[in-house]
Amino acid sequence: MEKLLISSCMLGVSCRYDGQSKVPFSLEIFSKLAMKYELIPFCPEIYGGLPTPRTPSERIGNEVYMKDGKCVTENYKKGADEALRICRIFGIKKALLKEKSPSCGKGFIYDGTFSGNLVSGNGVCTQLLLMSGVEVYGESEIDKLL
Ligand code: SF4
Repeated sequence: MEKLLISSCMLGVSCRYDGQSKVPFSLEIFSKLAMKYELIPFCPEIYGGLPTPRTPSERIGNEVYMKDGKCVTENYKKGADEALRICRIFGIKKALLKEKSPSCGKGFIYDGTFSGNLVSGNGVCTQLLLMSGVEVYGESEIDKLL
């Protein structure tokens, strides 16, 4: 069965910055997904060494900063590297990642001002996976995977 890397928080794991999960799909959709793919849960921010809960972060260019000004770019890069390593080890060619996140976002991310504004761009992990040939889908693109 084809493997699919999936943001852990979308499977109900409480790994978001606020200590919560964010499940975007019904059980029915998850069942369909699980019939087609072996789901591999992954959270790049946890694998990058950040705690949960944690201060929220946003991308500013190629850097990532917490709301209190702390630079966490290296944590984000490490998490992205770990995601790619796992994709290579397990032969994973597709990922379903959480939109808008500074790690997992695809297409649009927050603009770095912590004011809720979105700009065009990808999260750090999504960017690396796309550059490395892994197909990345956001949750609004679930139909393309089913
Ligand atoms: Fe979810 Fe990705 Fe944020 Fe982890 S880094 S909590 S998997 S959106």
